[in-house]
Amino acid sequence: MAGNTGWSVNATWFKMARQPLLMLKGASAKDRAKGAKTSMRLALKLAFALRGSMAAVVVSAVLVAGQARPFPGPDVQQIYQRLLPQIEKISAFDHHAHPGFADDPDVDAMAAPPNASEALRTRDDNLELVSAAKALFGYPFSDLSPEHSKWLVNKKAELKKQYPGPAYFNRILDKINTESSVANRAMMADYLDPKRFPWVFFSDAFMWPFNNERETARNPDEGVFIPLQEKMLHRWMQQEHVDKLPVGFGDYLKFVSQVLEDNQKHGGIAQKFEVAYFRPTTFGDPTRAQAEEIYARYIAGGVPGEKEYRTFQDYIFRYLILEGGRLHLPVHIHTAIGIGDYFNLSQSNIMNLESVLRDPRYASTTFVMIHGGYPLERQAIWLAAMKNVYLDSSFGELAQYPSAFKATLKMWLETFPDKITFGTDCFPYNDVLGAEESYWLGAESSRTALASALAEMISEGEITETRAMDLARGYLHDNAVKLYEGKVQ
Ligand SMILES: [Zn+2]
Repeated sequence: MAGNTGWSVNATWFKMARQPLLMLKGASAKDRAKGAKTSMRLALKLAFALRGSMAAVVVSAVLVAGQARPFPGPDVQQIYQRLLPQIEKISAFDHHAHPGFADDPDVDAMAAPPNASEALRTRDDNLELVSAAKALFGYPFSDLSPEHSKWLVNKKAELKKQYPGPAYFNRILDKINTESSVANRAMMADYLDPKRFPWVFFSDAFMWPFNNERETARNPDEGVFIPLQEKMLHRWMQQEHVDKLPVGFGDYLKFVSQVLEDNQKHGGIAQKFEVAYFRPTTFGDPTRAQAEEIYARYIAGGVPGEKEYRTFQDYIFRYLILEGGRLHLPVHIHTAIGIGDYFNLSQSNIMNLESVLRDPRYASTTFVMIHGGYPLERQAIWLAAMKNVYLDSSFGELAQYPSAFKATLKMWLETFPDKITFGTDCFPYNDVLGAEESYWLGAESSRTALASALAEMISEGEITETRAMDLARGYLHDNAVKLYEGKVQ
């Protein structure tokens, strides 16, 4: 503390001593020397006068506006307690979620592979889920034993009758103070209110139009994922009344664009890629002629070699993100570890996308890095230096406990606070642990981590409390909403 005080007085002295010297710029050397002597004397006098009761006021003001400290002070808990209720009052925009019931196959375009490992906090026996059930449904038990779980399943069935159609999930959003939530789903459900659940659809399937035998056989996880991509492509074909994919590559691209445009007309606000689950995210830059040649060779049959298939996909991916710019359809990309034991982190490393994100050809496309590159979120935030790149924090708040997630948020808030958005990645795991509980856990974890990160920043002299609340509103709501040009609230 003593060291800081000394530094601040010196800094004030330096400013006072320097000011008259600058004013003398036009004067002669002799005058300047004389002026310098006078101004130094004045500064000394002032500095001396600062010693006493006034000094404390001035010095503390200098500290708030000046040097940040490496440790929070003893006031950090108090600041946290003051911020949290204000942060809970901010109505949120959930930028990434999969709302729906457990028996709804359209909640995602893919499914979890069997026997996948789960990190500690995302396991069924996490007792925080009991707190979620209590908060949302008045659950009277303190565990989730199969017998007690029945109560929860029955309660939800009862509420579904009491709140029919869209009313059920609207009520869940009200309970967690979320104004609206992205529904990143294969297709929209009639039980979700499109005003409060804007649709984000999946674009990956356009990259797998050929015979996928070899792709599916790569490992047991792809055995689950790739057939679901084929299913998704067929659904887009049904939507456009296309029985067979066109013979000509130009017509295929027209079909792809038509799906994007129609999805946008059906309320789609963004397109999502979960391509990291299916192939490496290093995208080459082939010519149209290369892609066209591969399309012509395999659209009628035959299994493409891995390299050929990747080259074709590279072209389609780049076509889709360019279309995202033309149509004002932001591009969401899964950038984190993923479910399934075969998910390859090094091949899907968020930094693989750097050459695409920093390519001026895509400057008019808005990119949202879903899950913020976790666990590489420290590097990832620097991608948000690009004006059109944003980071979403969903899943990070579930994979980590609030103490660790706080550190992530704090680092992001200290770097590009206007480029980060809140999301829960809620998902209906099963009848007991539904999207409802994961919504609650995601929202609660994010709000507490946010309040604690900001409390530390205030206590360490980095920002004021007013600025902290501006950052909180940006992260929880405003930063994401402004990307959709008035289409979401
Ligand atoms: Zn997700």
